Amino acid sequence: MSALSAAQVRIAQAVTRGTVRTDEPMARHTTFAIGGPADVYIEPADEDELVDVLRAVHAAGEPLTVLGGGSNVLVGDGGIRGVTICLRRLAQPLAVSGTVMRAGGGIRMQRVSTLAARQGLSGLEFAVGIPGTLGGGVWMNAGAYGGEMSTVVTEVTAVTRTGERVSYSGRELAFGYRHSVFQDTGDLVTSVAMVLVPDEAAAIRARMDDYTARRRHKQPLEYPSAGSTFKRPPGYFAGTLIDETGLKGLTVGGAQVSTRHAGFVINRHGATAADVKALIALVQEKIMAAHGVYLEPEVRMIGDD
Ligand SMILES: Cc1cc2nc3c(=O)[nH]c(=O)nc-3n(C[C@H](O)[C@H](O)[C@H](O)COP(=O)(O)OP(=O)(O)OC[C@H]3O[C@@H](n4cnc5c(N)ncnc54)[C@H](O)[C@@H]3O)c2cc1C
Repeated sequence: MSALSAAQVRIAQAVTRGTVRTDEPMARHTTFAIGGPADVYIEPADEDELVDVLRAVHAAGEPLTVLGGGSNVLVGDGGIRGVTICLRRLAQPLAVSGTVMRAGGGIRMQRVSTLAARQGLSGLEFAVGIPGTLGGGVWMNAGAYGGEMSTVVTEVTAVTRTGERVSYSGRELAFGYRHSVFQDTGDLVTSVAMVLVPDEAAAIRARMDDYTARRRHKQPLEYPSAGSTFKRPPGYFAGTLIDETGLKGLTVGGAQVSTRHAGFVINRHGATAADVKALIALVQEKIMAAHGVYLEPEVRMIGDD
């Protein structure tokens, strides 16, 4: 374990209820199961502790990286310098009042989706198979099967990187395709209000079961990945383009273009981040050469090579 600097010790002292670890392998915290060590890795226990940690990080001038469920990131093999804050323990609030559900930014999307279904509230069926947190889902404006976060989210509370509490509603959220205002401001999502629509619980459950079955059939869920590797290029589907170009099964080291779903790069066997990046670059090059289309990665690349 490497020694903490004086500034890092002060940051660690702001954590009294949550967890602090040093040299924490990020492969443990990402669905790709890839990534070198984070210098200082913190899971604040709640929003108050998050505010304290953010103020300490800001005062120390340490670089800050934010993580939810780690399901849309590729962390470099060199790991992450400075402080990495994972928000998965931000579980409060979790309440339903009429058709409004409020939930903490660290709660799993799947849990929120299931809870809504149990309450006879429709609108979050699409989220049942998305493995990240609610905050990560808002940050990405995650979506599937015709639904996305923007259709249900009405208000978000967040904390700025200097530790100020803020809130956003309506158009301030600036939702677009896989985009929200939080990608511009860098604020950390702590709780989310969603307006849902009453429906029969059985009908909601049936839609969720259908989406789950479709995912199991089409997606390589038996391998670690970060879901769709590329954004949908205008006028095309990334997976179809990659499949039609004959790139299914293309391999660099332990990384492979899934033979089941060409839109997924999977960690087939002990892949490094360098393997995944080289494979992504190869796919981009071949698709550009064959179709003149640029495939923009949807997966966020963070940390050092
Ligand atoms: C098998 C599989 C299937 C998937 N299917 C889908 C799908 O159908 N649709 C889809 O859209 N995505 C899908 N994904 C991708 C991923 O699950 C989503 O993008 C998800 O919303 C990411 O959330 P996360 O909490 O894991 O974010 P992370 O991967 O931890 O982080 C992603 C980005 O969000 C930021 N972030 C995370 N939490 C917060 C927060 N609370 N406040 C501020 N910033 C935050 C991080 O800084 C980072 O830049 C899939 C992934 C997998 C592995």
